[in-house]
Amino acid sequence: MKILLKNKDINEALKKVSNLGFVPTMGCLHRGHEYLIKQSKRKCNQTLVSIFINPTQFNNKKDYLSYPKNLNKDLNILKKLKVNFVYIPNKKEIYSLKRKKAIILKNENKVLCAKFRKGHFEGVIDVMDRLTNIIKPNKIFMGEKDYQQLLLVKKFIEKKYETKIISCKTVRDKNKLALSSRNQLLNKKDLIKAGKIAKDLFHFKIFLKNKKKIKNLLQQKMELFKKNFDIKIDYLEIRKKNNLKSSSTIKNSKIFIAYFINKVRLIDNF
Ligand code: AMP
Repeated sequence: MKILLKNKDINEALKKVSNLGFVPTMGCLHRGHEYLIKQSKRKCNQTLVSIFINPTQFNNKKDYLSYPKNLNKDLNILKKLKVNFVYIPNKKEIYSLKRKKAIILKNENKVLCAKFRKGHFEGVIDVMDRLTNIIKPNKIFMGEKDYQQLLLVKKFIEKKYETKIISCKTVRDKNKLALSSRNQLLNKKDLIKAGKIAKDLFHFKIFLKNKKKIKNLLQQKMELFKKNFDIKIDYLEIRKKNNLKSSSTIKNSKIFIAYFINKVRLIDNF
């Protein structure tokens, strides 16, 4: 496994590589990341994983500084998975060149996390543009766990590059809670709570099948969650799978949630 720190090392290391799979991460790896890496290994000749906590996608400095890190554990996981390359750039390496054209989200895209985390997706798209330009992968593997991110990045990257974005299912623990690096910031009680919320939303999705006026049902669910779990909810909405437009049925749609447990912000979709 080759560890690359500089962009110039990437050019050298990837000279003879064809059909490269790329898995971008912010580290603190878990089985969700591992699943993406396994998909890349199945579909590509070689796999590169990046570990970079991207400052520009955090709309809150405290959140950026407290983002969990565990580089040694990450490197052990990547070695075990027989990843070919790990790219661990610093901020300067990624951001030394100034962008020619600012990334601007269309108003129609300013929903869900784009509405609640100002500048977040602009930061995500910026770093994905830079990483894709440096690495030039054939395929990038991304998780449905961050569904809005997946759609926005796919649209941008596939328009600008020949790279294909491959979406991968969300990996969950036995309580149905989506694995996330941020789960590390929760205590045991809050993890159980988050699991209960995930399980509830799974059943809720089934319950919504064939229901027409779901707006009231969503509102009731929101009130119930606030009361039973003592959480702050940014949004609980149903939107179309393909374009995230508002939907009044669960058909071809997904439930999206973002909420805080003890100041830790979790997102999921079902
Ligand atoms: P992150 O390190 O949180 O920025 O995530 C890196 C990639 O892993 C993104 O494409 C995420 O969508 C994906 N990912 C995160 N959690 C999961 C999960 N539980 N299942 C599948 N993919 C995930």
